[in-house]
Parts: sequence; structure tokens; C-alpha cells
Amino acid sequence: MNTQATQSKNHCTVNFSASECSDGMCCFTCVIPPDNGHIGFFRSFWKRGTGSPHVKLLVTSEGYKDELYDSCKFLDFVISRDIANSKLNMDLRCSIYKNRPRQCRDYPDRAGESMYYKISGPCIFNEYAAPASYKKLVYKRDWQAFYAIRDSAEAIGNIVVHENTPVAREMLLNAQDVRRAAISTGKEEWDFILIPIPRQTSKILYVSDKHMPISTIRQAYHTWEEKIEKNLQNHYGSEWETRLKQALEMEENDACKRCDENPTDNLERRFKTGLCQ
Ligand code: SF4
Ligand code: SF4
Repeated sequence: MNTQATQSKNHCTVNFSASECSDGMCCFTCVIPPDNGHIGFFRSFWKRGTGSPHVKLLVTSEGYKDELYDSCKFLDFVISRDIANSKLNMDLRCSIYKNRPRQCRDYPDRAGESMYYKISGPCIFNEYAAPASYKKLVYKRDWQAFYAIRDSAEAIGNIVVHENTPVAREMLLNAQDVRRAAISTGKEEWDFILIPIPRQTSKILYVSDKHMPISTIRQAYHTWEEKIEKNLQNHYGSEWETRLKQALEMEENDACKRCDENPTDNLERRFKTGLCQ
């Protein structure tokens, strides 16, 4: 990826809109097979969303190759300015929400590689917003995600509502932490506008009791043991249990250090969580 000069003038921030689950990350990565086969026969009757083919999900992490994901064809990607003009609201929505396929309805409580083998796990945004120690253990790396919007009048015109296209482009490029980058997609290279995805959990729909925010490795492992074990076995082979044990010990030592720095504030939490015994 060739990141050109950052053009941010800190004019406004780009946030998720004030509705639940407005990040739509699972509609790029987890739920959909590459050919959108989950939609089946009905796909010819439905109107495509505004996201595909204009927006991609870019994942970067130090020392690893960048990863680029396409969105589901039915994902709507909308950016609008708030009334005070102080921020841009991003909203990613399913354009066929009421008729979305079973695997989208079930996600993330029931997900898996095949119809017959489904296990529950934290959703992809939950893992993105999780503490770095969780990602380093379960993914072997910390990672940053961006929405990458094609820098073209057609893409911007489709995505930014109620604005004329050149104004919308200027507005996007001047927003905080937004930058341009040339990204190679196979044989061709295109210019994209990169919006860092905020780890903003307050607007996320944790769709069930099983789908709670990840706060620690221990809590996540307790909730999604099977899924996490599978990841660890893939990454570490027969050493996975040792790695898990080491990570849990480190997490508990860190929590104890924090308790010692703020003994009064954290006394109650230490007893509640059973740490530092
Ligand atoms: S919070 Fe999770 S379930 Fe909701 S849209 Fe994001 S990735 Fe999907
Ligand atoms: S059908 Fe809707 S919910 Fe399912 S992946 Fe596509 S946009 Fe997301």
C-alpha cells in the first residue's frame, strides 16, 4: 500500500451513526461466502447496496501483508453530516434486512464453516475492539481496520448523501485521521480514501446474552471456549495450552499491578474477579 500525504486538517471526526450495529464489519468478512451464494436464487430480485463495489475493508498489522475484503452486495454504506456539521456519521446497513439469509440472522451466536458445523464466537467487531492482549494471543498480532472508499465521483456520489460530490470529497479528505492511499487490487492499482474504523463500542448491538463485549482473555475464553481453542490450535499447534496459560497469567499479573497502583478503587474488583489471591 502506498499511503500518500495525509490531508487531514482535523475539521471533523468520522463516527458511527447513532444506531446499533452500524459498523457492518461482519458483512465484509464473516457471514458471506465470496460468491454471495448465501443469498441464493433471490439475489436477482433485490437491489444492490451502495457499498459494493465502492468500499472495501482494509486490515493492516505490522509485519504482515495488508488484507482487503469486499463487502456483501447488499450492504448499504452511507455517510452523512450531522446538523451541527461537527462530525460525519457512517452507517452500514443491510439493504435486505428483513429478508436477509439465515446465516446473517444467526450471526454471531451461531456461525461456522458449514451448515452442519456451527459454533458461536465473538463477532469480528467485538474482536477488533477487544484488548490488544486478546488479539495478540488469538490472532498473533494487533490489527487496525479501515473502510477504504474508492476515490471516484461515482463512489462518493453513491455513499455521501445530501451533498454535492466535490464538496463531499473535500469534506471526507479534511476529516480527522482520514487519508488517501493507492492500493493494489490484484493487477490494478486504485486510489482509495481510508477511514480508520473507530473502536467505538457504545453503539454496537450485542445481540444476545452470549454476545457480550470482550473485556479480558479469561472472560472471552469462558464464553467462547470452543471457538477460541480452535484458533489457538491453528496458531500454536500442540503448544496452545501453554500459550493460553501464559497469556492468562500475564493478564492477571497486569490486573494485580493496576490494583496495587489504585488500591482503594480496585479492592472490590479484586475480590469480585478472584484475581490476586
Ligand atoms: S457489531 Fe458485530 S454483529 Fe454487529 S455489525 Fe458489527 S460485526 Fe456485525
Ligand atoms: S445479506 Fe445483509 S446482513 Fe447478510 S452479509 Fe449481506 S448485507 Fe450483511
